[in-house]
Amino acid sequence: MTALAVVANPIVATPLRQAAAPKPFGLPFADPPGPGTWYLGGGYGNTVGAFFQRDTTYRAGQGLHFGLDFAAPCGTLVIAIGDGVVAKVDAKEHGSAPHNLMLQLDAGYATLYGHLSERSTLNVGERVTKGQVVGVSGDSFGTCHSAPHLHLEIRSPDYLTAYNPINLIDADWDTLALVGAFQRGFERDLDDPRQWQYPDDQPDTQFGGPLLNNYKNPWPPDWYRR
Ligand SMILES: [Zn+2]
Repeated sequence: MTALAVVANPIVATPLRQAAAPKPFGLPFADPPGPGTWYLGGGYGNTVGAFFQRDTTYRAGQGLHFGLDFAAPCGTLVIAIGDGVVAKVDAKEHGSAPHNLMLQLDAGYATLYGHLSERSTLNVGERVTKGQVVGVSGDSFGTCHSAPHLHLEIRSPDYLTAYNPINLIDADWDTLALVGAFQRGFERDLDDPRQWQYPDDQPDTQFGGPLLNNYKNPWPPDWYRR
């Protein structure tokens, strides 16, 4: 009787996914997600919501939702996702009314906190450390009962490119993505229906670049908008 050779099963031995590079940033809230704190409301990228507003709100961002939306009651404290310096307070060019805050992060990115309810008390040039409170969340309609949420962007230091925060913030995104309230999924190009359909598989945004989702055969189509 011959001994069975121990041979690694090549299927089992091959990782299903490459080990991802460590993500440099933390979540913008100190508290864990939950009904009284915050949850992931809308994804980054080729979302259905951004597609429907691709010629207006999201035109400059190639028709993509160039940040993440975190649903949170007005007044929720938001914290620095990494160490850095305050770069802009209430910069008009970044919208996200009523108030916004831009940080330059030491890790080589910038981050925008949008729809804050109050002007940040921080000053341009001031240093912030990861976890430090930098603002107070608000509502994009300014009411606190319409759409209370934090819009968070991660950009290149020159602000010209926005990246998918899911790939840069260390969190359990698989679980967080199960709950979104205003998440209607990702717009489909029926000529290439598998492109950009996952929260962690979305294109970078080049501000001022051409629309990426002006599809000839989109689903849902524009007439489907409700
Ligand atoms: Zn947003």
